[in-house]
Amino acid sequence: MESQKKVIERLRIAFRSNMTVPLHFRLTQLEALLSLLEDNEAQILEALHKDLNKPKFEAVVSDIELVANELRYTICNLEAWLKPTYVNKNLPTKLDDCFVRREPLGVVLIIGAWNYPLQLILAPLVGAIAAGNCAVLKPSEISQATEQLLSELIPKYLSQECYAVICGGAEETKSLLQNRFDHIFYTGSQAVARSILQAAAVHLTPVTLELGGKCPCLVYGHLDLKAAANRLVWAKFFNVGQSCVAPDYVLCTAEMRDKLIPLIVEALEAFYGPRINESADYGRIVTDRHWNRLMELLGKSQGKVVIGGEGVKEDKYIAPTVIVDVTESDALMQEEIFGPILPILTVESLEEGIRFINEREKPLALYVFSDQAPVVNTVLEQTSSGGFCSNDGIVHMTLPELPFGGVGASGMGSYHGRWGFETFSHRRACMLRGWGLERLSVLRYPPYQESNLGWLRWAARAKKKNWGVCSII
Ligand code: NAD
Repeated sequence: MESQKKVIERLRIAFRSNMTVPLHFRLTQLEALLSLLEDNEAQILEALHKDLNKPKFEAVVSDIELVANELRYTICNLEAWLKPTYVNKNLPTKLDDCFVRREPLGVVLIIGAWNYPLQLILAPLVGAIAAGNCAVLKPSEISQATEQLLSELIPKYLSQECYAVICGGAEETKSLLQNRFDHIFYTGSQAVARSILQAAAVHLTPVTLELGGKCPCLVYGHLDLKAAANRLVWAKFFNVGQSCVAPDYVLCTAEMRDKLIPLIVEALEAFYGPRINESADYGRIVTDRHWNRLMELLGKSQGKVVIGGEGVKEDKYIAPTVIVDVTESDALMQEEIFGPILPILTVESLEEGIRFINEREKPLALYVFSDQAPVVNTVLEQTSSGGFCSNDGIVHMTLPELPFGGVGASGMGSYHGRWGFETFSHRRACMLRGWGLERLSVLRYPPYQESNLGWLRWAARAKKKNWGVCSII
């Protein structure tokens, strides 16, 4: 087998040849990736079923279609994104061409997690290809069937000179990280993210971290509680709660909790039938280790199980579980749950709910369920999180126009749509000057004159309209 070093060298040679730069090359690769998804849907579904017992519907929506949509959107827009962005000028630069040019970074490393094992490798890859990079892909070894399939399919569809899959777990990833990359895009836990940052620091490599955390769902005021229960149950138990943006816990008043619980029971029965363990629409926990972790967490909780609570180890099954009377110091509130356990904590007011959220690390997603715009706006304005969605869960991340990423402990950087292209691009500041206005240039040359300083200050001063283009795109 080719060593990691050799693979990276091969990609670096390809990058230096500039073959990834032309628009036509990028579009061809993106179209090939789309064909990979279309031609191999059955094998992909089979692999995701092997790894996570993923129902076809969930696999299509969250792994296959999400990536396919990213591809279609990028293919349609890439030519426009590649155009230089001309910026406003001041008097001393009036005759110059001043623009921002998007350039590829080089050879990038994409490390994925196991919960959406196809999406978390291929969606960042769309941005990396679009931006003109070569890429090493390191899928999660935990979702082994998908890892295997990716390592077979990627070389069949994409340029082998430019893109490679390297398989393995922590040890292989650590050794991979000793090499120099031009960007590292990591999806996974906060604990491993620290070692990724340390490894990146050695080469001063920029890093995007797509991490997790505890995403709160604040239910408050007037609302359609039945619809709220349906959406909450869907968002929480989709992929058996193994989603970085799944609602981790609910905050509501005691009165709201008592109304919500029977509606959650109804929604669960309507979705999965009376015997959830027999439902084809409910997945499984990824490994025994994760099953043990979740059942231990459940055992340590001081809360009261009001729905579910049972698990079958041989089947890696854990029932959708709702727990009440959970306090801040409860085991369930000390770490991201990342499974089908939903604690409901009570607060007496909206202010208390907001305070509770703000006393913790900034989450990847924050949900507020309420019919009242002032409630939604207050939560939006007084909190911070990677993403925000009112009256639903997860769906905000399916729109390629919105950046997807965390803030604070939930991550740094973002992707999806143009944001992925930007993440993998260097925005090069370009000023193309001629020889005009030399008489103005004289003002800045020594011997310095106090009188020229005033002119220069006036001429170069930023005007308000110059700041009209301060967004990154
Ligand atoms: P994981 O165990 O699959 O690890 C992620 C990647 O890191 C894998 O490719 C793995 O091989 C590698 N890895 C593991 N240990 C390592 C080490 N010591 N050194 C270097 N590399 C190592 O996945 P996980 O970490 O269990 O993923 C779950 C976490 O990821 C959750 O916190 C979840 O919220 C988060 N997540 C975030 C997003 C997002 O988009 N923000 C998406 C999915 C998951």
